[in-house]
Amino acid sequence: MAGRLTATEGDATVSAYEPLDLAAVEGYLDGRPAWRSLLPDGPLTVTEVGDGNLNLVFIVRSAAEPERSGLVLKQSLPWVRVFGAGWPLTVERAVHEAHAYERYGAFEHETLPAYHGFDAEQYALAIEDLSGLRVWRAALNDGEIHPGAAAALGRFVARLAFWTSDVGTPAEERKRQQAAAINPELCRITEDLVFTQPYFEHEHNHHAPALDGLVQEVRADARLREEVSVLKHAFLTRGEALIHGDLHTGSVMVGGGRTAVIDPEFAFYGPVAFDLGALWANAAIAFVRADRLDRPAAFREHVAAILPDSWAAFTDELRRLWPSRVDRSLDDAFRERWTASIARDAIGFAGVKAMRRMIGFAHVSDIETLDEPRRSSAAGAVIAIARRLIRERDALATPAAAWQVVVAETAAPTRGLAF
Ligand code: ADP
Ligand code: MG
Repeated sequence: MAGRLTATEGDATVSAYEPLDLAAVEGYLDGRPAWRSLLPDGPLTVTEVGDGNLNLVFIVRSAAEPERSGLVLKQSLPWVRVFGAGWPLTVERAVHEAHAYERYGAFEHETLPAYHGFDAEQYALAIEDLSGLRVWRAALNDGEIHPGAAAALGRFVARLAFWTSDVGTPAEERKRQQAAAINPELCRITEDLVFTQPYFEHEHNHHAPALDGLVQEVRADARLREEVSVLKHAFLTRGEALIHGDLHTGSVMVGGGRTAVIDPEFAFYGPVAFDLGALWANAAIAFVRADRLDRPAAFREHVAAILPDSWAAFTDELRRLWPSRVDRSLDDAFRERWTASIARDAIGFAGVKAMRRMIGFAHVSDIETLDEPRRSSAAGAVIAIARRLIRERDALATPAAAWQVVVAETAAPTRGLAF
């Protein structure tokens, strides 16, 4: 146990917050009868599975029925988990995750784990144990096909775009919601790690030596940096809807015909295109990996369908919901223009989200688990894709055209690599 500390900066009272550990979970649940009653009586087993970068994730099950789905407790720590106490980060992020589950729960009945509530003192959420599903990134890395995942995510983004924006929430209420969802610390992480640090020399950044020349080119590309600034400004200012904020393939679990969205701790009122862009960046990365591993055509086609399927599902769902909008002055012509601008921005956000995974702080297993020279060749292709998506997003304009860039740059001989 890391000892007691004040959970909220500037709070004079000493909080009872204390990070849980394996031994403490059972006793903790005894003090939370509503959560304990979700599990059978008798001894429990507790495992910690947080392979993420930030938080503790405990899976709690009945010792007598180890196959039976249990309960997941997710607790935030007062620092970034991968860095330890050297990188402090507010535990309030659990409040944002809880808030997002609550808001989304009002309209999203397809893609969320069951949400059982939040302990505001221990900064812990209880959610459905999804151990029967796998993290989508891991499934894609293994070449698994999960039909329907991309479309489910497109519908999820359409529904949050509709129901949490001025389209689906009355104007004054929408502003109150936005004020309540302000998430400065986590937004700052995205601003720094996605939009700023990758384009400068920074101690967080790293890449394979073979990529040195390419990375220098990226950092010297003034036109690219200008476009990244425009995208960053959109992220900073365009509070359209309560977006997930971290919708990469590691925030999605798949299996048994289900697609589940987890980890909405970065949720805030931001540009809808950012969530689609996160998904598309990771689709592009998965596609490059599948190419370098020479995966069967059926799998490569599956990965190639993520972007078009999610986009078609997004636009269909938005159109389907449109007659229920609360602001009738936002007309069909507006919807078409909004959709077109979301497409362009999502292409650009896909570019920055892909780029940061190659040259920034947090990389992805899709690429990192490849052997050299495939690893650098794949990363080089993703950098080329990212650069073009960022620079050419307005000219490309459509998701289909953007995907053509992904296909072309994946097949192109990678240039600029030094082995
Ligand atoms: P972080 O915010 O620290 O990144 P995540 O919410 O992404 O944490 O969870 C980290 C990991 O824990 C996931 O990648 C997944 O393997 C596992 N996990 C998270 N939520 C669940 C759940 N509800 N059921 C089963 N496993 C889960
Ligand atoms: Mg997270």
